[in-house]
Amino acid sequence: MSITFWAPEAPQGVESYDCDCNEWTEDGETDPNCHFCKGAGKIEFPISEGEFNVSNTNGMLIQKWIGFAQYPGDVSEAVYNGKIPTEKLQILQRRIKELQEDPPRARITGSMFFGTFDDRVVSYLRRMGELVETAIEHNSPICWG
Ligand SMILES: [Zn+2]
Repeated sequence: MSITFWAPEAPQGVESYDCDCNEWTEDGETDPNCHFCKGAGKIEFPISEGEFNVSNTNGMLIQKWIGFAQYPGDVSEAVYNGKIPTEKLQILQRRIKELQEDPPRARITGSMFFGTFDDRVVSYLRRMGELVETAIEHNSPICWG
């Protein structure tokens, strides 16, 4: 299970990743009959600008750091989908800047759920920061689900 964060009004693009069907063919070439890539060697999927996807657990972490989880303290009651309206985006952007200057690991050590802070924190905050920027630019809310 995973959670995607995205800005619905942001422009759509296409992302791709390499198909691994060449690992199953005898000559190591892309399989022209591949069900996934149809022989192209790449699988493409639509994605909106700034969109990113994380595991449920990390999605909950992000929500907690940023302060929009509705049920703090219990991941089992956390919110699996929701929306931040455009008028809240400036507040969110400020909050992310604060967190980037003072990462959560300094404050929430000792908790089981928050026990493993590392570069993920920094990387998720950066991605969320980019998504907020994109959302503001395109006057879009941010959704997750
Ligand atoms: Zn393939």
